[in-house]
Amino acid sequence: MDLNEGSALGVFRCKLCELSSPYTFYGQKPPNTRAIVLLEECYGMKDPFSPDREKFLVLGSKCSLCSKTVCVGADCSLFYTKRFCLPCVRDHIHQFPEQIQAELAKKKNTQKTSSS
Ligand SMILES: [Zn+2]
Ligand SMILES: [Zn+2]
Repeated sequence: MDLNEGSALGVFRCKLCELSSPYTFYGQKPPNTRAIVLLEECYGMKDPFSPDREKFLVLGSKCSLCSKTVCVGADCSLFYTKRFCLPCVRDHIHQFPEQIQAELAKKKNTQKTSSS
C-alpha cells in the first residue's frame, strides 16, 4: 500500500462493531478531489486498491445525536439527512420515515427466536 500522499492522521474506530482502520482525512472534502463534497463530515481514506488518486473510501462518521464514532456499515449506522447510529435510530424511530422503520424492522426479525 502506498501511503506517500496523505499519510494516516490516526486510526478510525467504530464504537459499535470494533471496526478499525487508519484514516487519511476527516471532513467533507476528500483531498485530491476536484468536485466532490460529501454530505457529512466523515472519516475516509484513499482507496488503496485504486490507482485513481480521486478514489477514496468513507469509513464512517459521528452520529449527529450522540456523537459516537460509527462506521457506515448497515449494521451500525444509517444516513438520513444526517448520520445516525442504529441505537439512536431505535430510540427515535418514530421520527424517521416509514421506509426506514420498515428496514429496521426487517433487521430485528433476523434475530431468531427459539421455541423449545
Ligand atoms: Zn461499525
Ligand atoms: Zn447515536
